Amino acid sequence: MQKEKLLLIPGPTPVHPRIIHSLSLPTVSHVSPEFVAEFKEALANLKKVVFTSQGQPFIIAGAGTLAMEIALLNTVAPEDRVLVLSQGYFGQRMRDILVSFNLQGDIIQSPLGRAVTPEEMENKLAENNYTVVVATHVDTATGACAPIRSYAEICKEYETLFIVDGVCATGGIEERLDDWGIDILLTAAQKCFGVPPGLAVLVFSPRAMIKRKNMTKIPAYYSDILRWLPIMKDPSKYFSTPCVNEIRAFNEGLRLVMEEGLRERFRRHARTARAIRAALAEMGLSLFTQEPFLAETLSVILYPAGIKDKEFRQLLAENGVIVAGGLGELMGRVFRLGHMGNLSPSQVIFALEAIEKTLTALGYKLEKGRGIERAEQIYSEKIH
Ligand code: PMP
Repeated sequence: MQKEKLLLIPGPTPVHPRIIHSLSLPTVSHVSPEFVAEFKEALANLKKVVFTSQGQPFIIAGAGTLAMEIALLNTVAPEDRVLVLSQGYFGQRMRDILVSFNLQGDIIQSPLGRAVTPEEMENKLAENNYTVVVATHVDTATGACAPIRSYAEICKEYETLFIVDGVCATGGIEERLDDWGIDILLTAAQKCFGVPPGLAVLVFSPRAMIKRKNMTKIPAYYSDILRWLPIMKDPSKYFSTPCVNEIRAFNEGLRLVMEEGLRERFRRHARTARAIRAALAEMGLSLFTQEPFLAETLSVILYPAGIKDKEFRQLLAENGVIVAGGLGELMGRVFRLGHMGNLSPSQVIFALEAIEKTLTALGYKLEKGRGIERAEQIYSEKIH
């Protein structure tokens, strides 16, 4: 068997042994009391993760893109006009989905490495009668984190529905559905929850549910949340067979989140990001993403002169760590290091050591051990 490597791409993320164990349990009936209890527990804990008491959670076999499609098809009618706030790759995908279903939308595209500013958003809302605004919280291609809370404030003013793609954020960065006024938060299992891919995860606000109920017909069947609603209220009912093992694994992932505590989990993500960035800076590496927009869940790192993408990632993999290359325009210019989910300080230190060793072997000059020392120092600081 091949030696296991540390998977630090921006999702899927390393899977905790407890989650692996739960995946490996024998499959039970999807209507058995034991599975129904676990499904209910997962739905209840999901609400806690996004700080909602009134929101309606949905956990459906699929992935993040299905969650994007579900969010749009269940709230955007042909007469609606959507404003997509895009930081890059995944905002463009939102627009592609709208186009595929002949739905109307405009997009504001921020320069790569930044997010759309609240002022730009407000100017556009003042120009046209938009009924829905969509934003990516963290764009996984550029590492940019958007000011979701400020966007939500503006949506309130303009009375538009607000959809947030939290695929690279939910469970790792704070997102408060009720307090901030988010109408749909969509995500997937494989990023900050550290669960293998396989689930589309959404929470709808009461307002978003009303919007769906007021739309008579939508161009969807499996993606129609009204078909799923009875199951989410009582998982012993049937619509389409739920992926039993994956949902149990997700439930175990959510238990880990609850045991750690949300506050502590968000702090850990922030501290991990700080430790990694301080170490990389010490090694002389720079980030692609602009300073005020840096996400706490991944880093997009520029290659120094003379370091080639393919060689670097190949040798790094031989040294035990898998990272991702650049997407789209950034291909060959950057590598992406995911640091979300259930990542421990010792895994981070291992990865930094592997990066240092790889760069050195490729002829890059750095002072050995300095970056790792900085990261260890940050991990040892007391947090209040
Ligand atoms: N949105 C964001 C921000 C993502 O990072 C991704 C996946 N990388 C998606 C949507 C799509 O998710 P999936 O690949 O699970 O379909």
